[in-house]
Amino acid sequence: MAGIYIHIPFCKSKCYYCNFYSVASSRYYSSFIPVLLKEAELQKNYLEGEKINTVYFGGGTPSLLDHKDLMHIMDKLQECFEISADAEISFEANPDDLNNGKIKELEQSPVNRISIGIQSFFDDDLKYLKRIHSASQAESAVKRCQDAGLENISIDLIYGIPTLTDDKWKINLDTSFSLAIPHISAYGLTVETKTALETLISKGKALPVNEEQSVRQFKILMQQMKTNYFIHYEISNFCKEGFISKHNSNYWKGSKYLGLGPSAHSYNLLSRQWNVADISEYIEKIEQKKVPAEIEILSNEQKLNEYIMTSLRTIWGCDINYIEQTFGSEHKNSLISKAENYISKGHIIFNNNILVLTDEGKLFADGIAGDLFE
Ligand code: SF4
Repeated sequence: MAGIYIHIPFCKSKCYYCNFYSVASSRYYSSFIPVLLKEAELQKNYLEGEKINTVYFGGGTPSLLDHKDLMHIMDKLQECFEISADAEISFEANPDDLNNGKIKELEQSPVNRISIGIQSFFDDDLKYLKRIHSASQAESAVKRCQDAGLENISIDLIYGIPTLTDDKWKINLDTSFSLAIPHISAYGLTVETKTALETLISKGKALPVNEEQSVRQFKILMQQMKTNYFIHYEISNFCKEGFISKHNSNYWKGSKYLGLGPSAHSYNLLSRQWNVADISEYIEKIEQKKVPAEIEILSNEQKLNEYIMTSLRTIWGCDINYIEQTFGSEHKNSLISKAENYISKGHIIFNNNILVLTDEGKLFADGIAGDLFE
């Protein structure tokens, strides 16, 4: 089973912390849609006929898509790929776009999972991030979706925002629980290079991000999720039974995926590739029937390291038997010996030939994975 990711590269305005590729203008919108459909045709053999079990509309802001364009994209995907009848079709939406009309349109489309970019239920945090929705819009967007009968809802939250005290973070989590949202993705705020946030902090015009606060709030997150019976299935992802995201799980389990749109990434087990992060160049090249992508053929070591990195972040863990069968016993033995230090510190549990991070280990996930790399 494979996945398709569609990048919708438009936003109403740029959030300060964002380093995803998008343009805060609709100038290219009308030329983008036919080009995206053309890219689907150009790339229809990329997944070699593998059945599609997930389609994900991300961005940017997919909720800026017109209904007819969403339907055209879905029709084109059906035409070019074999999409399974029970495929997960996820759609990212910003709270300010989720009015009754938009929700009705989504209900009439093949979309069956909505991911809402809430980030916080407090206006001062949203202002720090320069999100354009308000806290009350965030809450009413969720309720409107639920009233319309949409059950498979995910929200994004951000912790570590300098204006977000621990008490406010607990309230954000309690609000999510009281809204009965079955899937929550929670990310620590990071200051990415070349973002407005980086510039503002460096000029002393925005409060700096504090690592200790992020660690504290990640611990609160894990604790509150446990108390409220959420499954912590990936470092940043939590859900109620039956609501694990198929799309993200495909990434973490190393399945193939095809990304369409500027800056979208693809992976077919042998190589990964990424489209140019420039909408005008993207349009120009696709119109000439060329996919504007850079390709990297993966070495065995890169594949192994990627597997270690992604699998360790998940509840399914890093499977030593799989490493032996795929990469050889030498790599298996080397990994086990490197992991011993973390097993003795209580950061990793080694059970049934699977390495899994403990809650304490999750605080250092990236560093641990890096140490285990070949
Ligand atoms: S809406 Fe999303 S993609 Fe657009 S600028 Fe904000 S964080 Fe980035």
